[in-house]
Amino acid sequence: MHDGWCCATIGASKGVTVEKIGITAQVPIEVLIAAGYWPVDLGNVFLADDDPGRFVQRAEEDGFPIRSCARTKGIYGVCLELGLKTVIGVEGNCASNTLLLPMLKSQGVRVLSFAYPDQANQLLVQKKLEDLAEQLGTTLHRAESVREELSEARGLALQIDDLTWSEGLVNGWENHKSLLDTSDFSGSHIRYCDEARQLLQMVSQRRPYSGDCVRLAYVGAPALFAWDLYHFLESEGAHVVFNETQRQRAIPNPGQSLAEQYASLTRPYLISHRLRDITAELKARRVDGIIHYNQAFCGRELPAMLLRRTAGMPAITLDGNDEYGLGKRAKVRLRHFLEVVRRLRDSERKISDFLRSERRVER
Ligand code: SF4
Repeated sequence: MHDGWCCATIGASKGVTVEKIGITAQVPIEVLIAAGYWPVDLGNVFLADDDPGRFVQRAEEDGFPIRSCARTKGIYGVCLELGLKTVIGVEGNCASNTLLLPMLKSQGVRVLSFAYPDQANQLLVQKKLEDLAEQLGTTLHRAESVREELSEARGLALQIDDLTWSEGLVNGWENHKSLLDTSDFSGSHIRYCDEARQLLQMVSQRRPYSGDCVRLAYVGAPALFAWDLYHFLESEGAHVVFNETQRQRAIPNPGQSLAEQYASLTRPYLISHRLRDITAELKARRVDGIIHYNQAFCGRELPAMLLRRTAGMPAITLDGNDEYGLGKRAKVRLRHFLEVVRRLRDSERKISDFLRSERRVER
């Protein structure tokens, strides 16, 4: 759970409590902070809670269908438990918002909206940012200063991400958590920076992962059973070197302005942007196989077939909704998958070793 919401926040004098504002997806938090709010990523609070089932239960008691996205219900439950007065919903981002936002309104929560444009066009993004700033009574000029202040924290997150795949010093869970938390910095970007520096210091003393580890990508929304999943994969000799959605939270291509920054994201726009980003990272990070997570009742997940065809490497799809741990069946499937990936990788290595030695002989 988030705590201490007054600490060292931008735009507020020390010791002054700023109002929390709930966010249901990735939004331009710089504008919110410039307007004197501190964002709370409701999905992150839900995922990090020790007993997330209670949020889902509350939502179902209030009328959410049993057969619907658990994350939406979790967001609703968290918002009410934290007693937030205002929430920003992202229009067009999620079909479940058509139920979530009216349900929150019916509970007296003020619901504001933000929408990304259809295309990743800087001018269109700029207009949307201006609309948001006007709605919140601030300016983009102030929001740009906030962007500068947050850049150190985001830079540290991306450094952690780099060390995961290039040096093999950061594990998949640490990578997942450090990147995911950048959507609201869990309440303080200063505390985030301190913790990130501590992690960087700690991993600099570690021995890197061995070359024998299977290198994996995790593609899709973060699962409720993430903790279990990353630790299980680790125990089976696999290293998650790419967390697709989580990396987007840290804004890997910030550019020179807020408009450029938010036009550089992949998830709000065409699926082809997302696939382009995924394939480039799979190659750069020398990934051997993909764990594809598919959230039930969600129309925004990447279709498994499309991912397989584009990526051209083994992929396994895990379906989930309100499972808080990794079940036995999923573990068996993952073990088989890792075996296949390992064999494939080893045979490819043998082929390329052979071709290399042949080339040497020919010379
Ligand atoms: S997982 Fe899909 S349906 Fe659920 S909240 Fe996210 S976008 Fe909406």
